[in-house]
Amino acid sequence: MKVLVINCGSSSLKYQVLQMEDETLLCKGLVERIGIEGSVLKHEKIGQDKFVLEVPMKDHKDAIGHVLDAIVDAEHGIAASMAEIEAVGHRVVHAGEKYASSVKVTEAVMAALEECTELAPLHNPPNILGIRACQELMPETPMVAVFDTAFHQTMPAESYIYAIPYEYYEQYKVRRYGFHGTSHKYVSERAAAMLGKPLEETKIITCHLGNGASVAAVNGGKCVDTSMGFTPLEGLVMGTRSGDMDPAIVTFIAQKENLSNADMNNVLNKKSGILGISGISSDFRDVEAAAEEGNYRAQLAEKVFAHKVRGYIGSYFAELNGCDAIVFTAGVGENDKAMRATICSNMEALGVKIDLEKNDVRGKETVISADDSKVKVLLIPTNEELMIARDTVALANA
Ligand code: AMP
Repeated sequence: MKVLVINCGSSSLKYQVLQMEDETLLCKGLVERIGIEGSVLKHEKIGQDKFVLEVPMKDHKDAIGHVLDAIVDAEHGIAASMAEIEAVGHRVVHAGEKYASSVKVTEAVMAALEECTELAPLHNPPNILGIRACQELMPETPMVAVFDTAFHQTMPAESYIYAIPYEYYEQYKVRRYGFHGTSHKYVSERAAAMLGKPLEETKIITCHLGNGASVAAVNGGKCVDTSMGFTPLEGLVMGTRSGDMDPAIVTFIAQKENLSNADMNNVLNKKSGILGISGISSDFRDVEAAAEEGNYRAQLAEKVFAHKVRGYIGSYFAELNGCDAIVFTAGVGENDKAMRATICSNMEALGVKIDLEKNDVRGKETVISADDSKVKVLLIPTNEELMIARDTVALANA
């Protein structure tokens, strides 16, 4: 069974086609600048050079049309006809409290996603557009929605309730939701396999450290806490997001700088984090290079980032009453050995001892803790697309 996985952003979309009998990746690609001058599709049949198509794409339907053409193209494609694509899995950011797992797309599901748009005004609309476009282009093909928030729906109320008037939760659904759920779920399941323990008997702290970053406490395969909240702004310091801070800063800076709500939102989401502290870049590679040359603010940005991750690890350690493994994943977690080492340094009291030689590795599933480390430290490349494809297979024909 071939499954198409689609992840739609506002002006871009990523896709993969997987052959699910052996879970192999057949092709993948990216469309950028949808609805903007300079639209471009970059398609890669695995094992072949990239195929680049530069044509105007006025909307998501147009873009997905070109993706489908590339998938069945005689030279670059991986299917003789669209009939071979038996199901489509869509990444959807926010399902509010509606869904705690993936669902087959129906009109009732679409209505629920529309309802959640208020909670994710930047993310859900393009996700919905992507599903609608696929439904028009492939009306007979079953579609499945896989949510970033779903894995975190097992959090107990004490993890998700904010200490503000309770009516705001009841009236406006203001609570912590958490994101990156598909990634946290995937790596926690892989971690259990690597530990050789049943998932139900594991306690795992998963660190998804990419441009967006979050940590989750996973007890017996179920999320009990995570660092992102009502939106992805809460928690760790990120590429351009502030993460946790005193909420009083918002009104203080807004007043000082005469900023509107939208301006302030922009500062906290786009101009803060690693970029804000370093003044150099949101990309850890650039910041690390500057830090090595002695740039104080670059060094500080790295230290603040690591400090925050360590804080969450410690907190989740207490919440879980110990843990079997700490997992690193996503762009920084998979590639940045120096950051992993900094985060795990001086944690012997918790039973965490990283092995610097084993840690000298990137992008590969492996143990990076010392043999006598009570808590295993694992590097596990995430694979959200595979998780989406698996759920799609399970639900498409249900
Ligand atoms: P993601 O959001 O998971 O795609 O992660 C993207 C981020 O990973 C980039 O913005 C970089 O900051 C970081 N990254 C990727 N490769 C490296 C590397 N070799 N060393 C340090 N950071 C990296």
